[in-house]
Amino acid sequence: MIQLIDINKIFTSKSDRFYALKNINLTIKKGEVVVIKGVSGSGKSTLLSIIASIMKPTSGELNIDGENIVSLSDIHSSEYRRKRVGFITQSFYLFDELSVEDNLLAPLIIRDLTMQEIDEKRESALSLANIVHKKKQKISTLSGGEKQRTIIARAIVNNPDIIICDEPTANLDKENSLIFIQTIKRLKSNDKTIIISTHDQLFEEQDFIDRVYQIKDGEM
Ligand code: ADP
Ligand code: MG
Repeated sequence: MIQLIDINKIFTSKSDRFYALKNINLTIKKGEVVVIKGVSGSGKSTLLSIIASIMKPTSGELNIDGENIVSLSDIHSSEYRRKRVGFITQSFYLFDELSVEDNLLAPLIIRDLTMQEIDEKRESALSLANIVHKKKQKISTLSGGEKQRTIIARAIVNNPDIIICDEPTANLDKENSLIFIQTIKRLKSNDKTIIISTHDQLFEEQDFIDRVYQIKDGEM
């Protein structure tokens, strides 16, 4: 279970204190799919970065299965991120000159796995993300939608139970957005907890979404 308690995020500069998030309280149960909507600048990426433990809040708690991640040392909070969180955005870098399957190696190589285990994990992530048929192809030869499916495969290759997607369909056409939504549906049926920020109307028509929140000027 993910629980945010009174989360505030203040960005400070020389002359200014800016509240990017104000008193956010949110509980997401295992296996739920939650959508966070809001215009650009409303605080979506900041919120998702805090849930992923990429960024620390100024105050408040992020409890994961009852443990406050904010109070952990950097080593332990990055262990939470590495083991349990898959983060999907448009801006993640792929190695253009490597194949789809070789782009999935980085998250696996730091673990103590046999070659066979690596292959099994890659194959299963590539199938889930609907890109297994292109696994030998170089990234530079893929379409935008296929690149994004590779990003999804890489995000789930370590089998995280929490999947965070920051405006995942912002650069996709309708066909690829619908493929993405099918992938999310499959991940939900695998009992993943999924948090998506978006302003894509397509998500509103999906019955597998448990809840939709609106965020405005850092308030939910
Ligand atoms: P969204 O993802 O909804 O577009 P963000 O979470 O990226 O919104 O940003 C929320 C607000 O916080 C914006 O006004 C943005 O300019 C500000 N902000 C985000 N990151 C920083 C930062 N590192 N320093 C200062 N202000 C920031
Ligand atoms: Mg954003």
